[in-house]
Amino acid sequence: MKPPGICTHWSLVRAIGFVGTGPVGGARRARYRWSMDATDENLLAAVKAGDQKALSTLLERHAPAVYRFGARMCRDPEDAKDIVQDTLLAAARGLGDFRGGSSVSTWLFTIARSFCIKKRRRRVGAPSEVLPLDSETTRQVAAPGATPDVEVADQELGAALNAAIAELDPMYREVLVLRDVEGLTAPEVANVLGIGVDAVKSRLHRARVSVRARLSPLLSPDVPQDPGTCPDVVPVLSRYLEGEIGPSECAEMDRHVAQCPRCRARCDSLRSTLALCRRSASGGRIPGDVQELVREALRGIA
Ligand SMILES: [Zn+2]
Repeated sequence: MKPPGICTHWSLVRAIGFVGTGPVGGARRARYRWSMDATDENLLAAVKAGDQKALSTLLERHAPAVYRFGARMCRDPEDAKDIVQDTLLAAARGLGDFRGGSSVSTWLFTIARSFCIKKRRRRVGAPSEVLPLDSETTRQVAAPGATPDVEVADQELGAALNAAIAELDPMYREVLVLRDVEGLTAPEVANVLGIGVDAVKSRLHRARVSVRARLSPLLSPDVPQDPGTCPDVVPVLSRYLEGEIGPSECAEMDRHVAQCPRCRARCDSLRSTLALCRRSASGGRIPGDVQELVREALRGIA
């Protein structure tokens, strides 16, 4: 790739702020690193202008999400390492042609997913594996700065969350991981999976109901017995959160939940489950050995 022109370079300096000072150009340029504040769009523009540092910064930024997705989908840490490396290398080769019709993260998940599917096909007939409960992914669920007691409770919940997600069929798991763990919008998830938004939402509600049910003994152990007259509030709340519920249905549900401790607890446990999903993706940390693999893959690109 040819290096970016001076004008391109200086407009980017103004736009996003390079880290470092000194004359621009030649060998010196290679010493600049991109600020992590640079937007994906800025980095993408620089990549298209031939800036290899921008390419590394962009891919390094998204590597943790790709690794988490691979770990969740393959349920095998070694496979997840392959997924993250294969995805970054494929992306590095294809980023110059990336048209920007979707976000960079959506595009990377699409690539990672195709590698996951290949792995899964190869593994058909092999015994399924579940992430160990004390894995790095589980530990990451603990909120940074939490007191030890809270951290222990969080780790227990994190382990339960991992197990609950791992038990979902892949078609439900990928939807929940992309929407509720990684925070993609429903249309973005539809884009990654190549299916309609309605199909995404119906899979999502089913996945949420299942994961919440698995976590509910930990989240709300003292819920009163169902008298048999309660509506099924969990899928309704899930649909409400996706903007699918009209005002009248919403008001009716509010009235019931206001006077029903059982349904209130079920709604609270779904909200807690979703908050836990999001927290499991926060921090952007990946295990040290994976970090090294990512750096190695990126060195190979630069
Ligand atoms: Zn109720």
